[in-house]
Amino acid sequence: MRRISLVFGLMALAMGPAAAQSCPGHPDAIGTSRTITVDPSVLPQIGTMQYKTSLPLEDHEVVITFDDGPLPPYTSRILDVLAENCVKVDYFLVGEMAHAYPWLVRRIYNAGHVVGTHSLSHPLNFNRMDDSGIERQVDGGIAAVKTALGDPHAIAPFFRVPGLLRNTKVDSFLAMKSLAVWSADEVADDWHHGITPKQIVKLAINRIEAKGHRGVLLLHDIHPATALALPDLLKELKARGYHIVQAVPAGERPASVPEPIAKMRDGQSGSPHVMKASMSVEHAAKAKRAHRHHRRQLKHVVAQATDDDAIAKAVASRTKKAQTADSGANWFTWR
Ligand SMILES: [Zn+2]
Repeated sequence: MRRISLVFGLMALAMGPAAAQSCPGHPDAIGTSRTITVDPSVLPQIGTMQYKTSLPLEDHEVVITFDDGPLPPYTSRILDVLAENCVKVDYFLVGEMAHAYPWLVRRIYNAGHVVGTHSLSHPLNFNRMDDSGIERQVDGGIAAVKTALGDPHAIAPFFRVPGLLRNTKVDSFLAMKSLAVWSADEVADDWHHGITPKQIVKLAINRIEAKGHRGVLLLHDIHPATALALPDLLKELKARGYHIVQAVPAGERPASVPEPIAKMRDGQSGSPHVMKASMSVEHAAKAKRAHRHHRRQLKHVVAQATDDDAIAKAVASRTKKAQTADSGANWFTWR
């Protein structure tokens, strides 16, 4: 009873009815039907995979979330697909990745997506950390993403624990920081090496249908297969009568953040000189390490890849089992 009143009490519909808004130039796009405003003090925990509460979605409503980025060219490709479909989503960025690609962080925000955080360096031991470790990872990630955004008010008080390795101590810390902790309602196993775009679409749809035809879907914008799956996933959702909903934080946020002066093309490493110059030596080294770390995890190098063919090749070249991002969590293995 308490939970029901909680959920209904905290949400406000910021946009109109559940019909998709028109998407200029893309009449077949699924669009974004509405937003749900989330106040962490009222809904501190989101996602039925781990919590009793989730977003108050109606029948056939899906919230899409992306973790672990930004990482070109995949994040960029995904942003293109989202724009072509007028779909707005929620991102959970890794601090060190944001340090490495601040121009991409700003592009995400200025495209109308919500930017939450996913720790400083994506350690897969949150559930074994002491208080200071948790604090360093959570606060460090937020600070890094704020710096990358260039406006401290642009960030959302939304946090997702790496590998979803939460425990009571982690949840209490996040609540104390007035952060909503996000789990998910569905995953699509897109971090598995060798998984095909088709399999990702199938898993996502099957699991959404199995969970009451709705849910918060967790994807990763650092994987080529995810980038390739997204157009078909959106098409399939539309064909089945689904609507896309975006969760937004309560309160005011800037309409946009300043774009970097010199835009980098996808595939180029590093960040614009103006940004790089402002980074401390320590931060620059950390960003490099984070980048190398994620590249190792990906087990492939397609830094120059900017088209679907190159991304498809990257998918085909993957043979080893996933070592990435959330795959290190034993938590997932019971699924
Ligand atoms: Zn992750």
